[in-house]
This record gives sequence, C-alpha cells and structure tokens, in this order.
Amino acid sequence: MARRRQLYEGKAKILFEGPEPGTLVQYFKDDATAFNAQKKGIITGKGVLNNRISEYLMQRLSDIGIPTHFVRRLNMREQLIREVEIIPIEVVVRNVAAGSLSTRLGIPEGTRLPRSIIEYYYKNDQLGDPMVAEEHITAFGWAVPQDMDDIVALTLRINDFLCGLFLGVGIILVDFKVEFGRLWENDEMRIVLADEISPDNCRLWDAKTNEKLDKDRFRQDLGSVEEGYREVARRRGILPEGGPADIKGPKTLQ
Ligand code: C5P
Repeated sequence: MARRRQLYEGKAKILFEGPEPGTLVQYFKDDATAFNAQKKGIITGKGVLNNRISEYLMQRLSDIGIPTHFVRRLNMREQLIREVEIIPIEVVVRNVAAGSLSTRLGIPEGTRLPRSIIEYYYKNDQLGDPMVAEEHITAFGWAVPQDMDDIVALTLRINDFLCGLFLGVGIILVDFKVEFGRLWENDEMRIVLADEISPDNCRLWDAKTNEKLDKDRFRQDLGSVEEGYREVARRRGILPEGGPADIKGPKTLQ
C-alpha cells in the first residue's frame, strides 16, 4: 500500500505530504515531552483527543473570522491542513500567573494578571526556545512589523474568544501557546493560525476547584493525564464517536 511521504517529525506530531499540492496531513502522536524534551512519556489516547479538540477549536475560531490552516479532520489521528510557512515564534498569552512566569518573576501561581500578557519565544530546540522581544523578531527578520500587528490582533481575539468558550463550561484558560504561518494565495500573503490548540499547549483549570486539566498533569506527575484531556473534550461535547474504545489507535503509521 502506498504510504504518504513523511516531511517532518516533531515531539507530538508528524507532518506528511498531503493529497493535493499546498496541503499536508498532520498526525497526532501519543508522545508527550516537557522541559524541552528532558522529560518524555506516552499518554495513551492523547493524539486522538488532541486531534478532536484542535479540530473543534480551529473550527470555532474560523467561525468568528480567524484564518487558520485547518481544512478538515481525516480520521482519528489525522487532519488535513494547508501548507504554510511557519513563523519561528511561539506566541504565549497569559491571563493567570503560572509556569515560567511564576518561576521567573516570583508571582504566585493562580494570581490573576492585571491584563492579558503576550510573550514571544524563538522556536529553537537547541537554544531551549528563549524568550525574545518584538525588537529581536523584527530586527532578525523572523517577521516584519506588519506581520506582528496581525499576530497581536489575531492573538488577542483568539484569547478573548477561547476564554469565553472555556468559561462557558467551567474552565479557566490560564495561558496558552499559538503559532502562526504565512499562507500564500496567488501573490497575496495572509497570516493564519497554524499548529494546534489543545491541552498540550494550554493551561486549563477547573473554575471551581482549580484542578489542572492539561499537560501540567504530565509535567508535575499528577497522574490521570488522559482523563484531564478527556474531561476538556467531554465538557465541550467533543468526545470521539465510540467512546473509550476508540481512544487506543496505532502509535505510529508503520
Ligand atoms: O512554560 P510556560 O509557563 O512558559 O508555558 C506557557 C504556556 O505555553 C503553557 O500553556 C504551555 O503549555 C505553553 N507552551 C507550549 N510549548 C512550549 C512552551 C510553552 O505549548 N514550547
């Protein structure tokens, strides 16, 4: 059987050549990494849940006019996406202090921030994704000022919308990371939301109990990691069709 050509393997996803030019297939693995891949593990069923959750969030964001790379979900672990030129910046938005912000600035975890804060990290595994300022991004040509205006405007809208979407089901969006890409259509370029949005790259806390429902369960060895992701999916009504039996898919395509 003909297999798709693999173009790139990341920590949690694999990209394959798509069926038509300008498309890719994004495959969600169960592999989990943390602390710049110093901690590694497998969270059984995570790829299936993240495929679903990211599909759902990208579609809802598209409904409100956010351009995304998402085309459609193909199966349990794969989605068809538009091929974009990834901007090598991780854009992090924070609403509540946690993680590296708490560590770096000594602000206790759980402190509501006076306003949402956007940070940028240069995507470079060897350097450990260092935090950078907009000055670095534009000076080194990773993005031009117009790109950054678009990125900030899109990111603030994404944050506003997702905060409401999660709060509606009793979940606080503490912080999250997004990535953007350049999509060329004819001679026109648009900045679009790329990568994924899932509990792998969001902090999601139960609004009543502050229970963590995201990858911090893995990072901090809290256990029941998959159950946290599943709870996020359940509350938004996006569990896979057949329930728990559907969760265990093949770990790799081979
Ligand atoms: O670790 P830190 O507190 O800076 O993470 C902020 C947010 O960005 C968290 O939601 C985390 O899951 C996400 N993140 C990510 N990928 C990274 C770094 C952070 O998804 N490489």
